[in-house]
Amino acid sequence: MKYKRILLKLSGEALMGNKGFGIDQERLMEYAQEIKTVYNAGCQVAIVIGGGNIFRGIQAEKGGMDRVHGDYMGMLATVINSMAIQSALEGLGVHTRLQSAIKMEQICEPYIRRKAVRHLEKGRVVIFGAGTGNPYFTTDTAATLRAIEIEANVILKGTRVDGIYTADPEKDKTATKYETISFDEVYSKGLEVMDMTAFTLCKENNLPIIVFDMNKKGNLKNLVEGEKIGTLVEM
Ligand code: UDP
Repeated sequence: MKYKRILLKLSGEALMGNKGFGIDQERLMEYAQEIKTVYNAGCQVAIVIGGGNIFRGIQAEKGGMDRVHGDYMGMLATVINSMAIQSALEGLGVHTRLQSAIKMEQICEPYIRRKAVRHLEKGRVVIFGAGTGNPYFTTDTAATLRAIEIEANVILKGTRVDGIYTADPEKDKTATKYETISFDEVYSKGLEVMDMTAFTLCKENNLPIIVFDMNKKGNLKNLVEGEKIGTLVEM
């Protein structure tokens, strides 16, 4: 196995499947299955999931809501998604723990780094909810921060495209995919991988990112085993 400890970042929108809002139960189960295969292979898995399928602070601001208030609502949305994935995983017999950056003691543990690492060592999938716990951040930044804290080998950013392209492949048919690319090149070419805060944090801590298609069955497992899938961003 190439990566012993991974942080899997999924966007909230990925959970929508083909629905316009919320959680698609079928998609949720598919993801849980994929995660179970790497878990069974003995890989230590941490997960951060976004909340964009339910609520985004920035959109709320456009509608006249206070940005900070909206961001907290967004963070709560990530907890809903985290609980959904937790339930799906547990249904498949995968042991999990959910830790939240905002205390919610009735439903999950508070985020405690040393405890999270212990859970991973004991073979539990750890899900980090409520982002960083701070407004003005994204779950990409939360994923990066947690990955660095728990010393994950890599961030696996599961998306619906199969990597980073020279241009948006959904708009430009001549776009080609990078197999690997350096942090500096991503920056100088203005390619979108993560928001700048998250991206800079990865670069400064030499944490590689792999962008890959999470909707293709087997991709996650093959990636963890070292197959070249998606695009690897590294120093
Ligand atoms: N959010 C936040 N701080 C964080 C993480 C998330 O304020 O550390 C809020 C923010 O409003 C964001 C929303 O939660 O828009 C949902 O997260 P995100 O947009 O990252 O989800 P994704 O795009 O991955 O679905």
